[in-house]
Amino acid sequence: MENNNYRVLLYYKYRTIEDTEQFVKEHLKFCKENNLLGRILVANEGINGTVSGLVEDTDKYMTFLKSISGFEDTFFKIDVVSGHAFKKMHVRAKKELVNLSLEEDINPLELTGKHLEPKEFMEKLEDPNVVVIDARNDYEYDLGHFRGAIKPEIRNFRDLPGWIRQNKEKFEGKKILTYCTGGVRCEKFSGWLLKEGFDDVSQLHGGIHNYGTSRDTLGKHWDGKMYVFDERIAVDINKHEHVIVGKDYFTGEPCERYINCGNPDCNKQILASEASEEKYLGSCSDHCRLHPRNRYVLRKQLTSDMVREQVERIRLKRV
Ligand SMILES: [Zn+2]
Repeated sequence: MENNNYRVLLYYKYRTIEDTEQFVKEHLKFCKENNLLGRILVANEGINGTVSGLVEDTDKYMTFLKSISGFEDTFFKIDVVSGHAFKKMHVRAKKELVNLSLEEDINPLELTGKHLEPKEFMEKLEDPNVVVIDARNDYEYDLGHFRGAIKPEIRNFRDLPGWIRQNKEKFEGKKILTYCTGGVRCEKFSGWLLKEGFDDVSQLHGGIHNYGTSRDTLGKHWDGKMYVFDERIAVDINKHEHVIVGKDYFTGEPCERYINCGNPDCNKQILASEASEEKYLGSCSDHCRLHPRNRYVLRKQLTSDMVREQVERIRLKRV
């Protein structure tokens, strides 16, 4: 029997925090005392976090955050799970909640796209004069995305503005919809789009997460799974149908299983079946396979001769 007495919370709130160091200290103390695990970022512009814990502990956390002046209406996205989704508890002070590397930062409290509830977003998806921009990274998109959404070829959020400028003609004169996992990235990104001169910009309130749990949408028009930044890695969104869009990095076969490249200096996330992981030594390239601290090689206790032989077989396409 599955034991679903844990939760994962995902949330953010743009609200000025004057003394971030003090805020971090108090937050960390509370989380530790209440057996929460996860990752929380604190900046002058607000808070962005995801934590897991027992249902009653996550309840205490939500009450705690909402008791802080300015955070009363924080919107929590909640998943019911069977255990912790993190190994550690980190609360860190940062310069910004999300990094777009802008010459002039955007304050979403002053400038941001129109917030659409899941149902409104779903209806707009069906409008032919709309372009949908996925505001996440390429490896997140590859696992799952809204059908027809544009994939920015970026590995980092901070590269998104540059990519938009280079591809401006795709969006000019169109209504723009943006979305991300929980909404925190789109708050800034949609504000930046407005500042950049696009005049009809909307964002999915509460992100894909909120869309997937909404009774109005049940995840309609979503293909694949949603990438999440915790130990679950992938979660289901579309309750109507499940279309696999992920492809095995090595074979191109449908795949929804992520691994990190065995080379600790590369660490690239790639989709790979168990069979591909074994054949390709859990690594994205020969260079990575031959790395002296390759984690896959160490874990499997392969000798350097075994690794070289396998690399040779891969080169000769004999795997
Ligand atoms: Zn690699």
